[in-house]
Amino acid sequence: MPVSPPPSLPLPDEDTWSLPAFSLLYPKINCIRCSLRLAGVCDAEILRAPERQLRATLCSAQGAEISHATCRMCPLCLGILQSSGDRELGSALLDAILAQIKTKKYVLPTGGDSPDMTQHKSTTDPVGEMVAEHSKYLLERKVPFILGVSLPGSVAIRDRAALEWVACEQQTGRHQDPGRRLDVKEILKAVLESCLPKHYPCLYAASTPSPGALRVDLSFWHAGADEADYHQGVRILLPNATGKAFNRTRKRRRHEESNQENLCNATVVARVLQAATGDPNVRSGLAVFFARNLMPPSTHSPTAYAALETPAASSVQVTREAIFLAGRYLKLSREMPQTLWVVEGGRRKGKASVEEVVAEPVLDWTSATSAVLIGSGREDMDVRMLGTGRPFLLRVNDPRRIPGREEVAGLEAAINQTTGLNSGGDVRVHGLRLSDKHEVKAMHAGATEKVKMYSCRVWVGGRVDRALLATSLEGSKELVVAQKTPIRVLHRRALLTRPKVIHEMRCTDVKVVEGGEEGGEEGGEMAVGTYFTLHLRTSAGTYIKEFVHGDMGRTRPSVGDLLGGLEADLLALDVTGIVMEGEEGEREEGKEQEEEAGGGVKGAEINGIVV
Ligand SMILES: [Zn+2]
Repeated sequence: MPVSPPPSLPLPDEDTWSLPAFSLLYPKINCIRCSLRLAGVCDAEILRAPERQLRATLCSAQGAEISHATCRMCPLCLGILQSSGDRELGSALLDAILAQIKTKKYVLPTGGDSPDMTQHKSTTDPVGEMVAEHSKYLLERKVPFILGVSLPGSVAIRDRAALEWVACEQQTGRHQDPGRRLDVKEILKAVLESCLPKHYPCLYAASTPSPGALRVDLSFWHAGADEADYHQGVRILLPNATGKAFNRTRKRRRHEESNQENLCNATVVARVLQAATGDPNVRSGLAVFFARNLMPPSTHSPTAYAALETPAASSVQVTREAIFLAGRYLKLSREMPQTLWVVEGGRRKGKASVEEVVAEPVLDWTSATSAVLIGSGREDMDVRMLGTGRPFLLRVNDPRRIPGREEVAGLEAAINQTTGLNSGGDVRVHGLRLSDKHEVKAMHAGATEKVKMYSCRVWVGGRVDRALLATSLEGSKELVVAQKTPIRVLHRRALLTRPKVIHEMRCTDVKVVEGGEEGGEEGGEMAVGTYFTLHLRTSAGTYIKEFVHGDMGRTRPSVGDLLGGLEADLLALDVTGIVMEGEEGEREEGKEQEEEAGGGVKGAEINGIVV
């Protein structure tokens, strides 16, 4: 049965593109899509049509047969825009993307109402902003996707060279701007961005990444073309060019050339294109470069490498932007670091970290590749985190499934179960929810804590009665303390003296012991000492351990100083409350927290731990 010719496509108005330019280019490069786009056709819908249909359309437009006998790779797009006769452009790439979504088992929503995008007023990035506003709602129904395309640098140089050659041949003004042309990347993006939602209606193209967005990265490379263009184009056209791209040391340049790496990188390409806009010599040089090197070799110089027959290599990578879970955690153990702590020899210090405990059920449910806990500050391993807990974000990388509200509640319950890594029940999480990108930024910026509450069990060498504690400690309101960077953090913090404020102090559980240790036998060798629990409300960033023991005089005044120059030591420390910037009623909250946490450290507990 004879195959009926495909229907003709509606070509754009003749004054928006140039049929003569097409007729000039096509026999030279044998790529119908590159010839059309460089002739000024800007409609991606037309450019994606099967090549057979495009040829039939052009035949009738030209009123003559157009040849496609020499089947060779397009020297401009390096084969990227060429497809086998009856397939639409991008169908092979689309197949690869869909296959990867399947094999990596990304779960994408299937039903639900689509959100009303018309309600949004902003003109900048309505979709991106809506995602931030309604991320919890949206991710359950609509998923943005980001498409990234990276091409060999030679593609941009060759495009420009072809345009200059056409201008030369047509003897149109050398100083005229060639006008708007779709480049290879724009066509690929336009085609794939319209195809992908046809297979997954929940997907819509976005310009900026947001949590949970699907990310499709297409990379193409062609070291042979880059190398050839660098040696036979760039270095001849711009032999004396100065500037960043060419200011490399000779050694560096030789290294690059011998490794054939990135010879036409973004900087080099930008430099060439910039030179072409102003310098007529560079423009005619590019035209010559095209004629000599990119046309069929039979009619031109023997140095031509136009016959490079291997198309650009490509890779498709589908991943998913991280999502963030926000909440507060309590840590009830003094042997648990916030994140995995490995010491020399690969030995871990302490129990499973808060990060590992929180991440365990989340990784399980989302099938993510990894998860990272970002705490708003951190307490030392031997410090408990009580009260209402410390705010944290859990960054969940490349999740296959995105939890909805109910699932997030389920995850919180799973973390709090005393099974798996949390079998000791040392970590408790509350207020878990999906977070948006504004919160992520705020947490990364840090320093959002305002006030912190602590409870510490303190020992001082000497007899101290309730009255002295009341006057010297509890009587000091809004006490300013000068803290030189503590010795223990000096290796990672600059040496500075920082003023910190102790807003309030309160002492409970005072106990004088005549010799020996608290709770131990009395009457030993040791001199008299006093134990008490000190409740503190301080500005964020105060080093509490140092405020108690003085850090060899580096923190002034210290608890010992305030008590008249006694030796003081910290036996155990709990964080009992953290008030974040913008939170109200810090004082009341602090008191509630202390009550809830049972006042933090107690004398009895200390006996169990310290002795
Ligand atoms: Zn092409």
